[in-house]
Amino acid sequence: MSRGSRLEGYRECNVCSVTNKMEAKQCFQCTGRLDLKDLLLLEGEKRWRRQRAPVLSALVPGLGHWYSGRRYIGTYFFAMAPLSIGLILATYQKWSWGLSVLTLSFILVWLLAIIDSRRGPYYFRPPCQVACPGKIPCSHYVHLAAAGKDLESLELVESICPFPGTIGRICHHPCEQECNRGKDGEEVAICALKRFVDDMTDRPYNFYRRELDKGTRPLGSKVAVVGAGPSGLTAALYLKLFGFDVTVFEGRDFGGGTPAVYAPEYRLPKNVYKREVDRILELDLDLRFGMRLGEDFTLEDVEKEGFEGIYLALGAMRSVNLPHTGTKEEGFLDGRDFLEEVVAGDGVELSGEVLVIGGGNVAIDVARSAVRSGADKVSIICLEKRPQPQEKQFVYDRNEWRRVKADKMGEFMPAHPWDIDEALAEGVEILDSGATISFDREGGRVTRAHCLKVERIDRDPQGRLIPVLTEDAGFTVRADWVITAVGSIPDFNFLGGAPKTTSVVEGLPLVTLEETAGVSIPVLAGGDLAAGPASVIEAIAAGKEAALHFYRKLAGSPEVSIRYRPRKTMEPWANYADSPDRRRRRREITIGRQERVSTFKEVSGGFAEKLAREEADRCMRCDWPLMRESKVKKFFRSVTKSDSAKISSRV
Ligand code: SF4
Ligand code: SF4
Repeated sequence: MSRGSRLEGYRECNVCSVTNKMEAKQCFQCTGRLDLKDLLLLEGEKRWRRQRAPVLSALVPGLGHWYSGRRYIGTYFFAMAPLSIGLILATYQKWSWGLSVLTLSFILVWLLAIIDSRRGPYYFRPPCQVACPGKIPCSHYVHLAAAGKDLESLELVESICPFPGTIGRICHHPCEQECNRGKDGEEVAICALKRFVDDMTDRPYNFYRRELDKGTRPLGSKVAVVGAGPSGLTAALYLKLFGFDVTVFEGRDFGGGTPAVYAPEYRLPKNVYKREVDRILELDLDLRFGMRLGEDFTLEDVEKEGFEGIYLALGAMRSVNLPHTGTKEEGFLDGRDFLEEVVAGDGVELSGEVLVIGGGNVAIDVARSAVRSGADKVSIICLEKRPQPQEKQFVYDRNEWRRVKADKMGEFMPAHPWDIDEALAEGVEILDSGATISFDREGGRVTRAHCLKVERIDRDPQGRLIPVLTEDAGFTVRADWVITAVGSIPDFNFLGGAPKTTSVVEGLPLVTLEETAGVSIPVLAGGDLAAGPASVIEAIAAGKEAALHFYRKLAGSPEVSIRYRPRKTMEPWANYADSPDRRRRRREITIGRQERVSTFKEVSGGFAEKLAREEADRCMRCDWPLMRESKVKKFFRSVTKSDSAKISSRV
């Protein structure tokens, strides 16, 4: 069966035997056509079963496997149990070395049953999907894009992540660092292809409204979402789809949260994000804008109003201040305030030399925005080292940045390496391993910064950075403006201080708040509020998990079936024809340097259609079972067809 015919089927999954709509109910692995609500609940149910299965297998070997739907292997472990108990009894009655060894080996089998059952209803996911915090099925939507099925591809992404156009522009794409294609070439442009299918699709309907109109059974429970950023809106959307009455409280007069307020136009055009926010806000949610938690209402008020759960997605809104700085009149600005003004369209007119303090993504955005706001020269000074090839959180290898181990992080600037490269390309200077210690002022305005070199960075027990400065290596930097962007932290003042928390889903910024004074209903915190500034896709994933958590708490376990699909050994290269051309990543259109530094126009213009299809076709579909080609067949195919002919015949 050719790849093309697979994609023509009712499902585009490799093992699918479904050929028409009538047969669709046979399959519970379907990612393409299940109702969105069922698809989400199925995902949640798989994870919950994965958590319970080892406990059951500890009681009775194999029970956890049965519970997860893996009946054959469960039966095997169960059959082992009487044998092992018999041997233990036999050893107890008449000890011998041989029986002891056998008994130990069967105990080992029992342990294996517990360990193996932790896989739950396992099915293979390609490394890109595993690396994605939102677990977006990258290989599926990339291949739908390769086949020209942009609408299907987009709706597949939307079923997991309601902001495809946004994420397709600003995601830090950990999926690409794990892409198998990158092992012998360049990674597939997974992130940009999301944007491509979004750009190519013009729909007259709201995807989520259509899902809601399929008929959702109201659950009769009210859940409050506090904060209308990506995490809060995602939670509100999925709670609504599950049948909850959802009220969204937001301190500002508009929805969107951090990306709407701080993401500059050259990175994320306002209209793209607004379109995606608006289609959630249109879904009959009870919207209460201009309501600040702690000022206009409290958690107790929410409970008194009859809500049964609260999801807090307030972001990390408190900027960290630096000593020795001053006021705006003196030439000192806060990075987040500066970005807010830039994004709102009334940015500060800068001139002369601008010094940005900080090494994170916000500092990079501030510097790049300062370049566009009229500054003659922009420098960034940061404690950390500027990443160099071979020694950064991403190593430079085969023309791409690749991630190094987490224990090395902290030495280097936390900004994404590709963003640092973009800033450098726009003329920003980076003064790494430096710290400002004081500022000179003339006529009430800042004129220069006195700095010291950083010898090394230590950490205190709370994980805060403690720079060790080299006293005899000082230098000064001229500065007409100083903009601080050294981070932001969650503000728990509405609770009187940071509460005790318990993680809900490992690896995601989602926690339950314990001992929340005055309320007895479940309270979750997610996104930046839970773990400090995180990525947008992590915030979105936390919102989705929060919705699943409330469903489980308030509506019980969903009725979904799970079918086990055995794991296959993956050798993706065997799945796919290879060639130097296929190892090369296609590039997006970008605007020229002069246009970049003088306007806020979006830097990336996305993919041209032909290049996008070729790029998508480079994906090796690592979730497909191994399909070995004989070397002879491979050889004859390579000499009889040109590479480009292969591409066009596949699309
Ligand atoms: S080649 Fe395709 S399926 Fe494999 S890791 Fe990369 S994007 Fe994922
Ligand atoms: S959301 Fe980000 S990490 Fe996930 S697949 Fe898309 S680009 Fe990759």
